[in-house]
Amino acid sequence: MSENCVFCKIVRGDIPSTKVYEDDLALAFRDITPAAPTHVLIVPKQHISSLAEISDANAEVYAGLLKIAAQVARDEGIAESGYRVVTNIGDEGGQSVHHLHFHLLGGRKMTWPPG
Ligand code: 5GP
Ligand code: ZN
Repeated sequence: MSENCVFCKIVRGDIPSTKVYEDDLALAFRDITPAAPTHVLIVPKQHISSLAEISDANAEVYAGLLKIAAQVARDEGIAESGYRVVTNIGDEGGQSVHHLHFHLLGGRKMTWPPG
C-alpha cells in the first residue's frame, strides 16, 4: 500500500469507483475518463508500480490480472468483437498513475499504431 496512490485509495475504498470485478488479488473498475465504450482498469490490490517490476516472485500477479481482463471482456460482451489490453510504463509510455494497471478497451474499432 502506498499512502498517496490514487489506485491504493480506490482499492481501500477511500475513493469511490464503479467496480466490475473483485477478488483477493485484484479490483477492476471503470475508467473515470473512458476512451472507449468499454474502458475498465484492472489493478492488483498490492501496490506494484508498473509492468517493469515483474519478476519470478510476482509473475503470477500479472497472469492473474490478464485472466481477469479476459473474463471482464466476456462479461462486458466484447469478447467476440474484439478488444485491446494495454499497460503504459513510465513517462514516454504514457503512464500517469504509478500503480500497475491494465486498460481493457473495447466496444469500438481500435486504431493502430496508438498515439
Ligand atoms: P495511465 O495514464 O496511467 O495509463 O492510466 C491511468 C488511468 O486512470 C487514466 O485512464 C485515468 O482516466 C484513470 N484514472 C485516474 N484517476 C482515476 C480515478 O480516480 N478513478 C478512476 N475510475 N479512474 C481514474
Ligand atoms: Zn498504489
